[in-house]
Amino acid sequence: MGLQVHPDIQSLSPYVPGKPIDELQRELGLTRIIKLASNENPLGPSPKAVAALNGAQDTLHRYPDGGGYQLRQTLADRWKVTREHVILGNGSDEIIGLLARTFLAPGDEAVMADHTFVIYKMEVTAVHGKPVIVPLVNWTHDLESMGRAITPRTRLLFLCNPNNPTGTMVSAEAVDRFMARVPDDVIVVFDEAYFEYVRHPQFPDAMAYVKQGRNAIVLRTFSKIYGLAGLRIGYGVSTPEVIDFLNRVRPPFNANSLAQKAALAALSDDEHVAKSRAVNAAGIEQVRQGLRALGLTPIPTETNFLYFDAKRDGRLVFDALLREGIIARHIEGTMLRVTIGQPDENTAFLQALGKVLGGGR
Ligand SMILES: *Cc1c(COP(=O)(O)O)cnc(C)c1O
Repeated sequence: MGLQVHPDIQSLSPYVPGKPIDELQRELGLTRIIKLASNENPLGPSPKAVAALNGAQDTLHRYPDGGGYQLRQTLADRWKVTREHVILGNGSDEIIGLLARTFLAPGDEAVMADHTFVIYKMEVTAVHGKPVIVPLVNWTHDLESMGRAITPRTRLLFLCNPNNPTGTMVSAEAVDRFMARVPDDVIVVFDEAYFEYVRHPQFPDAMAYVKQGRNAIVLRTFSKIYGLAGLRIGYGVSTPEVIDFLNRVRPPFNANSLAQKAALAALSDDEHVAKSRAVNAAGIEQVRQGLRALGLTPIPTETNFLYFDAKRDGRLVFDALLREGIIARHIEGTMLRVTIGQPDENTAFLQALGKVLGGGR
């Protein structure tokens, strides 16, 4: 009653997360449910990260280190920058919001693709910025057109690489050409949530632009290959100038103490990352071949998920999969996204999909 809400906020709809396992269990009374909806690591976190949380309960009454000293220093050492180049976030999602709040005045523009991470549009709209939407070409960012979409009002440009939900990447050469013509008053946001899964040799070194002093920020997360999605921790690497402005808007204790401890330990476990990459690479092949056997053609991916055209109402396919105990993701129209799981989970998904699509093979 009497609620006054800006039309920009009214235009938003709440983010629809992957359906939680508990919820589906309650609804359908199924015993085995396989969640392949949110690109989580099916192997879980590094045992070192779990061990680092032992004893953490004793300090839960203390605020976390608001400066995130140790984790920022470790990340700085790893990427050969200084601590002043690094910011932590409550997931890298939060840093997307900080970028919008810090650099967009009402009416300022942010360029992004039409099929990309939905949080960009939400955060830009929430601060009364204007999302400028550029269509993908072949499910891939069209850097030529994105460059042409830049105007004097453009402050941010989002490049999700590899892209969620399509899984595709843009190459070092394409990004280089693009960066040569991006004006310096536009911050290029390289969202690299799936960086650790990339296998393509031509993947760009986005950190190099930061080191050259370009207005760019690289976003990474502990939610995907590091298996810590529940703790909410991610980071950004940019110039000390950009980071300084972000820090003026950042809530002081945004990265919680458990997350900082677990992330630090996770960074020391290269073996877990290597194993996760290998399991994913094999799983991609398994699911790709399985989809082909069903007459479907998944889009090439550099991530831990596959994007494919089910060739019929995707909503119905999604719902039918749920009844088989499989939580995938309906993106829009006939398109679905499925996260790569462990081998038996992938098999269960392919069997369920075959059944849903009417026999298949
Ligand atoms: C998962 C994901 C993120 C990060 O999520 P957080 O859990 O907030 O760190 C960021 N960008 C993309 C494209 C993602 O898929």
